[in-house]
Amino acid sequence: MKTIETITLPAASPGTNRALTVIRYTSQGSTPGPKVYIQAGLHADEAPGYLVAHHLTTLLDQAEVKGEIVLVPAANPIGLSQWRDELLHGRFNFANSVNFNRSHLDLVEAVSRKVEGKLTDNPQENVTLIRSAFRECVAETSPIDEAESLKKLLLSMACDADIMLDLHCDHQALVHIYMGTPLWPAAQDLSAQMGADVTLLAENSGGNPFDEACSRIWWDLAAQFPDKPIPPACLSVTIELRGIADTDPEMVSNDARNIFNFLQRRGIVSGTAPELPPLKNKATPLTGVDYVKAPSPGIVSFIKQPGEWLRKGDIIAEIVTPLPAEGEETVVALRTQTDGLMFTRSFDRFARPGKILAKVAGKQPLRDDDENLLTL
Ligand SMILES: [Zn+2]
Repeated sequence: MKTIETITLPAASPGTNRALTVIRYTSQGSTPGPKVYIQAGLHADEAPGYLVAHHLTTLLDQAEVKGEIVLVPAANPIGLSQWRDELLHGRFNFANSVNFNRSHLDLVEAVSRKVEGKLTDNPQENVTLIRSAFRECVAETSPIDEAESLKKLLLSMACDADIMLDLHCDHQALVHIYMGTPLWPAAQDLSAQMGADVTLLAENSGGNPFDEACSRIWWDLAAQFPDKPIPPACLSVTIELRGIADTDPEMVSNDARNIFNFLQRRGIVSGTAPELPPLKNKATPLTGVDYVKAPSPGIVSFIKQPGEWLRKGDIIAEIVTPLPAEGEETVVALRTQTDGLMFTRSFDRFARPGKILAKVAGKQPLRDDDENLLTL
């Protein structure tokens, strides 16, 4: 059965209410099945996810769902309103400059207090208990503004899911996926089915993005209660669907088909999935990503592009300073610090010192686990 619900957010200014549309697919029978939550457009300026959600809806409309699939095809109506000078923004809240995919609710301590003394030696009972406590803790929060209310609403729908897929994209990029280290290699079928070139693992990336708000609670609670079995019960990931301009119909419909096939293989949608494609590359640590930063201001000419395997010291780009000071180099070479696969590069050709111009996935950690591992 398919239902469509529209939920109005509290107004940021009088007369400016925005609304969230939620599509739900549920099984006809009374047997409870797995719950899947999928959203697109949390960064409202990232176009491919909307199209993948659209194609996925078309596929799900004709499918038999076992359990529940909650699909939010445009997760950030606030960001979708951010037109300025012919450009849709949508990554940062104009009111406070907070990234819409950072600082989501961290309810580990609150859930921990609720489940303490009630956990058993049965992992499934613990999953049920924690999900119930997680739902209660989300419900008990009191957001004061529109963006915080949106974050609460999204988490209230995703916190008890077995699978959560958050659809994003980078500037110019290969398909890549962020997920919690404890989810690997059990989630290898997702990376393989999506054709992901890169899967990046971290237990705690430091910025509390939406996928970790759903997933990290499981391994944090497992660490707090080591004598009780607590599995990583939410396969929660951020899928980066290539670059911001990658909206070719064949590409996005194929991505939707891949998600559909993954759901079939996991038993949430009826039908037999085709043979799983081989995994392109093993997962690598998020700490191993070289965020290649501009050392000086200037204009960027890229030499390498996403998809190229690099050796440490390879030149990725040149930065030309059109107005060099006396004795200053006119052309500065930008090099990677790791052996690895270049998987993104900026669409911006203007450099300022410290700006990330490319990302290279390497196997060797370049930073400590406890650093903030995400970009702005
Ligand atoms: Zn994004």
